Amino acid sequence: MKPNLLYTPLVYLKGVGPNRAETLKSELGLETYGDLLQFYPNRYLDKTQYYKISQLHNSGADVQIVGKIVHLKTVEQKRGKRLVATYVDETGQMELVWFRGHKWIKENIKMNTPYVVFGKVNRFGSTFSMPHPEMELLKDHQAGLKISMQPIYPSTEKLTNKGITNKVVSKMVQQLFMETKANFSETLSQGLLNELNLLPRPESLLNIHFPKSQDLLAKAQFRLKFEELFYVQLQLLSKKAVRKRKIKGMPFTAVGEKFNEFYANHLPFELTNAQKRVIKEIRNDMGSSAQMNRLLQGDVGSGKTIVALMCMLLAIDNSYQACLMAPTEILAQQHYNGLKELLHKTDIKIALLTGSTKKAERTFLHNQLENGNLNILVGTHAVLEDKVQFKNLGLAIIDEQHRFGVAQRSKLWQKNTIPPHILVMTATPIPRTLAMSLYGDLDISVIDELPPGRKPIKTVHRFDANRLKVFRFIKDEIEKGRQIYVVYPLIQESEALDYKDLMDGYESIAREFPSPKYQISIVHGQMKPQDKDYEMDRFVKGETQIMVATTVIEVGVNVPNASVMIIESAEKFGLSQLHQLRGRVGRGAEQSFCILMTSHKLSEDAKTRLETMCRTNDGFEIAEVDLKLRGPGDLMGTQQSGMLNLKIADIVKDNPILKLARYHAIQLLKNDPKLEQPDHHVIRNTYTQLVKGKGLWGYIS
Ligand code: ADP
Ligand code: MG
Repeated sequence: MKPNLLYTPLVYLKGVGPNRAETLKSELGLETYGDLLQFYPNRYLDKTQYYKISQLHNSGADVQIVGKIVHLKTVEQKRGKRLVATYVDETGQMELVWFRGHKWIKENIKMNTPYVVFGKVNRFGSTFSMPHPEMELLKDHQAGLKISMQPIYPSTEKLTNKGITNKVVSKMVQQLFMETKANFSETLSQGLLNELNLLPRPESLLNIHFPKSQDLLAKAQFRLKFEELFYVQLQLLSKKAVRKRKIKGMPFTAVGEKFNEFYANHLPFELTNAQKRVIKEIRNDMGSSAQMNRLLQGDVGSGKTIVALMCMLLAIDNSYQACLMAPTEILAQQHYNGLKELLHKTDIKIALLTGSTKKAERTFLHNQLENGNLNILVGTHAVLEDKVQFKNLGLAIIDEQHRFGVAQRSKLWQKNTIPPHILVMTATPIPRTLAMSLYGDLDISVIDELPPGRKPIKTVHRFDANRLKVFRFIKDEIEKGRQIYVVYPLIQESEALDYKDLMDGYESIAREFPSPKYQISIVHGQMKPQDKDYEMDRFVKGETQIMVATTVIEVGVNVPNASVMIIESAEKFGLSQLHQLRGRVGRGAEQSFCILMTSHKLSEDAKTRLETMCRTNDGFEIAEVDLKLRGPGDLMGTQQSGMLNLKIADIVKDNPILKLARYHAIQLLKNDPKLEQPDHHVIRNTYTQLVKGKGLWGYIS
């Protein structure tokens, strides 16, 4: 079939008028035949099975039952009426229930006539009941198309209200198959079809919509998932290959004086093996002639900063400048202080640029950057401003990447005629499965080892009722000279409420820990930056023992003497945020603690999150759980959601297929990079269509 038939607007499909076309577009984003073809059912009803009423279980599964309605009545209840039918077969009786549409049912239903009903059953006491069943007269059912598995398509309330029921959608798809004669072209090579024993594409599409059997459905699903993931991988891998080939970077060939001198004389500790390995990976990458685009993952406290510094020294050794960007002023300041301390015995020039840098200093900085006197610039977004020009920026490092957008990353590219090497550091562990899909075009390094001597943080869950015990514990810790964080959630939608929670909490702590014996810092989003810094600073210096804060402290702050993290309303935080917050303690030699405070009202997901936190300190394990709970879209925050627009595959559940697809994409590009062999033409053509983004596929936005 010519592909252009699949670009035909749905309004031309028989049974779809302009109104329906509009609704399909606004509700489901379906515009063309091709879109509808790839609008897959999300479950199926097995119509090969008929149940007897005596066989019903309270399983929540959809069942199909042959019987008759023998009685119909309207029941008044507090919230409106319901219509109840007594439905019987030779083994017993049950109820069919409607909460809406009573008039139509009453007028149309036939009493004492054999029907087939379809739907979920619930048990109330000893009676089974089926709300809003799908019904068909037995004689129509027997005369109708013999579909053994009925597709159930995703739906919305609006669709149902506008009469686009599941039956209607299913009819549209049948019509589509008739008009196109199901003559869909193959998109995978014969080699792949043979090797993996894949179902051909037309058969797969037919069976995904109207499965002839469980077995064929499974085969169709496998084939379509494989195809989808295969092309995603192919795209990511070719993008990476093109970048490696085409985008020339600055080869940092020298491992010179600064690096070696620092390594030999100024390293404050022995590097962990993971740190050494990662530095080597980065060095090899920057040493080649291609531009580096690398993601450095390392759990909180794994020591990414020193790795960043060593890499910047490599740039300087090759006569380039380097910059390090952080998402907040506090963090930029801390990086700056830390790096300055590490470098204080060297002659390397380093400066800080943030939104609050004074005009005169700013001008001076700009000059120093342009004439190359400055080696390292640490800063916030301020670094991205057009006025900030480098003499020769060779390496840009971005810390805590999820707060920077892609657009900002690309701004960095333009800071030099040849794009600088880019290293993105993140403490949000991205499961390998996801990284492979989302960042298939980036190289990835992982620091999977914590510096020696760290004691794992002990995490416990306490209910609000135990607050007094928790206060006593805090007192003991402060007695031992430790510092404490108390963190309150910050939910944007109700900023005022959050603020009230924070202030109430602060007051109760202030009562329990009176001055002058105890000193308390408070930091929240509504404070001026100077005030925030002042409070933060007092805590860093140890002048205050307790830091009461909203999540502004989440990222990167380093106070090794702080040994207790108390998270209030912990059920309101996501897993990755809890993990980030916990990472603020456990940075010194002392045993650290994290106390998750909650009320008794906990959702199942919240319980899972709390249990996970208490069970493990392993960021990757936590990320896997998070991924399962939230799905990939949410995991990375809004920035990445919608990046993968998968129609059928699920990168978590279908991880084995993802690996298989990736393996075959790699093999293919290795053996035939330009896809020139005759059997690969079909892949090349499909790929070209896909990259043109003609809407037939649209995997990646
Ligand atoms: P993160 O990866 O969270 O940015 P940091 O770079 O801030 O971690 O390091 C956390 C702490 O561990 C710092 O106090 C740092 O000095 C220390 N550290 C880093 N690497 C080592 C090491 N190899 N041995 C001992 N301490 C280390
Ligand atoms: Mg850090």
